[in-house]
Amino acid sequence: MSLLLDKVSYNYPGSTHGLHEVSLDVRTGELVAVIGPSGSGKSTLLKLVAGLETGHTGRIVLGGEDMSRTPVHQRHIGMVFQSYALFPHLSVRDNVAYGLQLRKVGTAERRRRAQELLDIVGLGAYAQRAVAQLSGGQQQRVALARALAIDPRALLLDEPLSALDASVRGHLRDQIRSIQQRFDATTLLVTHDQEEALVMADRVAMLKDGRLLQIATPREIYEHPASRAVAEFVGLSTILPARVSGTDRIDLGFAELAAPTGTRATGASVHVLVRPEHIAPDPAPDAVNRLAGRTGAQRYLGALTRYDFEVAGAPKPFLAESALPAGEAIAIAPEHLRLLDH
Ligand code: ADP
Repeated sequence: MSLLLDKVSYNYPGSTHGLHEVSLDVRTGELVAVIGPSGSGKSTLLKLVAGLETGHTGRIVLGGEDMSRTPVHQRHIGMVFQSYALFPHLSVRDNVAYGLQLRKVGTAERRRRAQELLDIVGLGAYAQRAVAQLSGGQQQRVALARALAIDPRALLLDEPLSALDASVRGHLRDQIRSIQQRFDATTLLVTHDQEEALVMADRVAMLKDGRLLQIATPREIYEHPASRAVAEFVGLSTILPARVSGTDRIDLGFAELAAPTGTRATGASVHVLVRPEHIAPDPAPDAVNRLAGRTGAQRYLGALTRYDFEVAGAPKPFLAESALPAGEAIAIAPEHLRLLDH
């Protein structure tokens, strides 16, 4: 079942904050991760889809049906929140069966379905336990089983992993992704963790100040960010102002480099984006785009070292990473320089 947002705008009462003309479509079975800085409107978007906030303009359409005026419980959407929001006085099984009970499903069928879902999330042996006896990661799996038990038309995940330890998070994100795919669940995942978004999502939607800046595959959004705001938010980078100085040439003030300038006119102001993994250490003396300088701060990360490379006259150092820090020079292949117009 597909989910469509068509020019959805919303202002909190008496405020200019909210969402501004957000349009996006989530295809059947697709997981779209919604990212953006704190206050960018991620939770607002999810609440509007759920029906927890009302009064937006534009349309929210689920499976071809306009949900904009449909009350929460009739939208038939499964939700998992950062706080597990389970009922502490109910058993694990009764938590999972809760939505089915609301929908007047009979006792035997409720039990069967709850057990089936608990088996899928790997908690089949915990059905009789009290939820308070479970770890945070286990409770979040119960919350996922509960959301899926009602056979939802869409799944909304609001920071489902952010309250958990890093060691649990990596495993659980793989598990959530594989269960989401198995159920072919049309899913919106809100996260402030850009790595989580890149790993889990089919596509990533970036919000800022209530506006959608870009929606694209993880690879596209990382390799071809549409703007500086997206480039700065997704992954590490060095972004510097530059001017187009000729066909496939840019001038950074302290150096002139070869870079694909496309259809931009000579003299155009741009920013140039360089990812750390694209900075080559110790290039040959005649290498293209060779920049002489020196290595500044170093951060050892095991498999590689991240370091600042300082070039005379540059407004800030280049953030680089490689197995070996550079000596006297670095080089950046022209195809790895991305020009950003805004
Ligand atoms: P995010 O989830 O990306 O951190 P939110 O959707 O929570 O962002 O918030 C978007 C904007 O709306 C922020 O400027 C926030 O301060 C404002 N906001 C959120 N909730 C309310 C509210 N109940 N009343 C007024 N403003 C709100």
